[in-house]
Amino acid sequence: MKTTYTIAVLPGDGIGPEIVAEAVKVLSLVAERKGVTFNIVHGRIGGAAIDEDGTPLPDETLRIAKAADAVLLGAVGGPKWDQNPGHLRPEAGLLGIRKALGLFANLRPATMHPVLVEASSLKPEVVAGVDIMVVRELTGGIYFGEKKRYTTDDGKEAAVDQLVYNEDEIERILRVSFEIARNRKKQLVSVDKANVLESSRLWRKVADRISADYPDVALSHMLVDSCAMQLVRAPKQFDVIVTENMFGDILSDQAAMLTGSIGMLASASLAEGSFGLYEPVHGSAPDIAGKGIANPLATILSAAMLLRHSFGMETEATAVEQSVWAVLEAGHRTGDLADGTGKALGTVEMGQLVLDELSKQLANIS
Ligand code: NAD
Repeated sequence: MKTTYTIAVLPGDGIGPEIVAEAVKVLSLVAERKGVTFNIVHGRIGGAAIDEDGTPLPDETLRIAKAADAVLLGAVGGPKWDQNPGHLRPEAGLLGIRKALGLFANLRPATMHPVLVEASSLKPEVVAGVDIMVVRELTGGIYFGEKKRYTTDDGKEAAVDQLVYNEDEIERILRVSFEIARNRKKQLVSVDKANVLESSRLWRKVADRISADYPDVALSHMLVDSCAMQLVRAPKQFDVIVTENMFGDILSDQAAMLTGSIGMLASASLAEGSFGLYEPVHGSAPDIAGKGIANPLATILSAAMLLRHSFGMETEATAVEQSVWAVLEAGHRTGDLADGTGKALGTVEMGQLVLDELSKQLANIS
């Protein structure tokens, strides 16, 4: 078994450095207890890199990321760089690194833990127990197809965005999704618009073909409009959802918001093999940056995904997740989750509580 792993850590801007520091402590504790080494290599991205290196994605950062086994990212952006031209905006660093690393599968879990049920805008009985994984294709479809503007024969301005998928692109995202479903409740819903789109009809055909290799997973198809309705009507029916880029962009945000708390949402973007980039869904929260009050849990849960998907450490990943839930069950909250009745914890305090709980959980494992 491999005993040394390299993790590229890119804190980014705003609250990025504060929340990433807590997740790194969690990873270091896992390494220490498991008797493995995690080499942590820091790099700059986003506004921090613009200020220091004159570009949102320095070559050195890309080199560090490519040489690593996984990447942990904080968040990028802030008002300081809002007026910059496109190529000198922090987000260009994020899009650039995703593309350069070939991250084609975006995983967005939406888990409603009973203790946070009041944070949702939906009724508790609808959302309690929701546990969905949305898998979004990230490098194909309409966002990457040919775009053009032209003038019609009668002088009107018109625009075209082309939606292209080939069967290899569909097959690889479907295989990732079947594998994930296999380790969950074994139910995969493939979402498309096959009643209208030719690309969706190809998507469905490939999904049906691949499903023969996964007889233990139940595959069903759902139209994207129907899925949007079902997600708010009866979200508990879903286990794993897989869909193309644009549908996934929208549905993953919709599913995430069932849980109501931005500070809790983790994500993973996977490449071929076990390489992946892990980051919280939220942004750099410039309004609270430097105050020490940001919720580090989305980043810690992203680190748990890193352990699971890139290092195959399922037991340790689950221990990290259980530690987060145990701390919340004990009533501890950062400001974004607090209901005003208890004391709101700071970033480091919350991180320490997770570490203390994880230390107990890992002792039980070994
Ligand atoms: P945001 O997610 O940064 O913040 C939205 C609200 O949620 C703010 O009130 C913020 O204080 C709060 N919040 C976010 N994360 C929190 C946490 N961990 N703990 C407590 N509260 C938290 O979104 P925004 O305000 O629209 O964007 C701010 C900057 O972040 C912009 O520059 C934007 O471009 C960038 N952004 C980056 C990413 C990314 O790096 N992936 C994603 C979204 C936005």
